[in-house]
Amino acid sequence: MAYIILNKNNFFNNLDIIANRTKSVDKVALVLKDNAYGHGLLEISSMAKEYGIKKAVVRTSKEARSIEAFFDYILVLADIPTLSSDKIRYTINDLRSIDKFPKGTKVELKVDSGMHRNGITISEMKDAFLKIKEAGLVLEAVFTHHRSADELTSEWFWQRENFKTAKERSKVLASEFGFGELRFHSCNSAALFRESNFDEDMARVGIAAYGCMDLPQALATEGLKPVLSLYATKNSSRVLNTYQRVGYGGDGEILADCIVSNYDFGYGDGFLRVCATNGYETPHGIKLVGRISMDNSTFMSDKDELLIFDDASVIAKYAKTISYEVLTSLKSEISREIR
Ligand SMILES: *Cc1c(COP(=O)(O)O)cnc(C)c1O
Repeated sequence: MAYIILNKNNFFNNLDIIANRTKSVDKVALVLKDNAYGHGLLEISSMAKEYGIKKAVVRTSKEARSIEAFFDYILVLADIPTLSSDKIRYTINDLRSIDKFPKGTKVELKVDSGMHRNGITISEMKDAFLKIKEAGLVLEAVFTHHRSADELTSEWFWQRENFKTAKERSKVLASEFGFGELRFHSCNSAALFRESNFDEDMARVGIAAYGCMDLPQALATEGLKPVLSLYATKNSSRVLNTYQRVGYGGDGEILADCIVSNYDFGYGDGFLRVCATNGYETPHGIKLVGRISMDNSTFMSDKDELLIFDDASVIAKYAKTISYEVLTSLKSEISREIR
């Protein structure tokens, strides 16, 4: 089967750059949802621990449980508790969900500062604080998410102002309802790099840590390096003559006599089919031939092993999508090795 190599030096390089922006490793909350963006939840968690990262963000309780040994703090974005844990915090995304959390649960309140996806509105904040108090939950933080941090529009500034209002209101409400001092966070990768003077309690960083951030030129960041490379191994080779055709529908036409080989990486493993329509070439300029099959694909090569991609942002352009989708499409069954 195809396999993944994770480059530890590149990962640590990215964490250096990120911790420099947050001004402290302790303020980096590494986002590990969806199998650590396809990199492998346990592999990335163990490297993060080795580096000294103490905080993680995941989607589910199950993910949080499986990485408890690696972190001091884990924020669950969209789930309710299964068992109580001192390390795990749960997100309140909706006023009506507050009574689903068992008494004593540590929670963080998500505020909708303009994305209109999840979170309570600023006008609902007082209600939320009251309900949280009545439910006996432990409110530790208030946070938000930006919808346009990676785009050159003024929306970023507008949302930032809205969150500032939410922070002020939170402080007043916290003392009114007798909660302790609250923490605040709003930055994902793009927002962290856009913020000229980061002063919040933590940043939730995903794609930058994996080195596949794609920003407009004016917002571009220097020095981040992709962590994941995908290799495939050869199933078979053959010599083809001019005008023979390869694969389903005979789409892959051969224009001169050559050797082609079939490799064990297909759409069932996460190789997006649309890459074939857009003339995909590997980082070494080796051409994909014909359609991508479920478990394999054919390249103009006779190598035993082939580097399929080493930068998800590049292959994402062939697939007309974002690096996030390329990475999270990679199946968890693919073996992952740290080097
Ligand atoms: C996924 C996610 C992040 C991380 O975003 P990146 O762009 O990968 O840094 C941060 N916060 C929330 C709420 C998320 O869902």
